[in-house]
Amino acid sequence: MTVIQNAGLDSRQVRVGLDVGGTKIDAVAVSEAGEILGRLRRPTGWGEDAVVTSIVDAVTSLADEVGYPMGDVRSVGVGIPGLVDAETGRVLHAVNLGVESLDLAARAQDVIGVPFRVENDVKAAALGAAVLSGAAGSMAYLNLGTGVAAGIVIDGTIWRGSRGTAGEVGHISVDPNGRLCGCGQRGCIETFCGGGALARAWGRPGALPILDIFEAADEGDLQASALRADLFHGAAAAVRILVLSADVETVIIGGGITALGASLENGIRAALLADADTSPFMRSLQLDARIELLPVGSPAAAFGAAVVGASASEKEIVAHG
Ligand SMILES: [Zn+2]
Repeated sequence: MTVIQNAGLDSRQVRVGLDVGGTKIDAVAVSEAGEILGRLRRPTGWGEDAVVTSIVDAVTSLADEVGYPMGDVRSVGVGIPGLVDAETGRVLHAVNLGVESLDLAARAQDVIGVPFRVENDVKAAALGAAVLSGAAGSMAYLNLGTGVAAGIVIDGTIWRGSRGTAGEVGHISVDPNGRLCGCGQRGCIETFCGGGALARAWGRPGALPILDIFEAADEGDLQASALRADLFHGAAAAVRILVLSADVETVIIGGGITALGASLENGIRAALLADADTSPFMRSLQLDARIELLPVGSPAAAFGAAVVGASASEKEIVAHG
């Protein structure tokens, strides 16, 4: 590996973070003080070589756009879907990216000459949401996207568990007679509040099926009303599990479905309150007051990746403000 050092170590103060999604890469440049210096989006390539190329392109384009030399980049962190070995930077089974097995950190590092670290996208987003929200102690980030997963952050560190499955609440079955999940079980939380499962259950054409479900429910469609209630109860179940198993202080909810905004947040709150109706114990936990939605367009995922990258070397990014 060749480390670019055109301006000396002290000036290498930029931490780059990339959130690699199925269609686009969200990239941020972060200063040593934890301030976001700039942000851009680039399309994600399909397949192993194209994913590496598009990641390298995002890193160099960001430097051009923000106006610092590549020699100022101290580390790059990448949040990416799939099974990630955070130690080696290898990515397995990122099906939405056409990646079966990719030594991402090693390959990108060879091209750019900067230390790379790779993390699962939801775990990176959890870390970013924790830092940006100023959450002290413990928090969980619940991602409601095509699938459902959570990341747990304790005292500024991602809690992985023994095999990296901590936070995989999407595949906890809450109804043995429920809809079949892609994992082979029935009634997984993901079948209640995952965008993919809800779209399949809805079964009608449309580019934005979850929005369609909400609109049809507002107009009195019974199937849509049932699916909307499923979404609220599934998300509420995930919140309950995260608090009861890890006692996180806050659950920050993000992911594509949160574009629905207040109607989603209010629905999950109402479900939490209704589920606690008969239980003084559950009411005492005040779960409805412990959730918040990540603002739409939040850079949390890319920012969290930058924090992951920073952990590759000696200095950590400190929460700003
Ligand atoms: Zn499942």
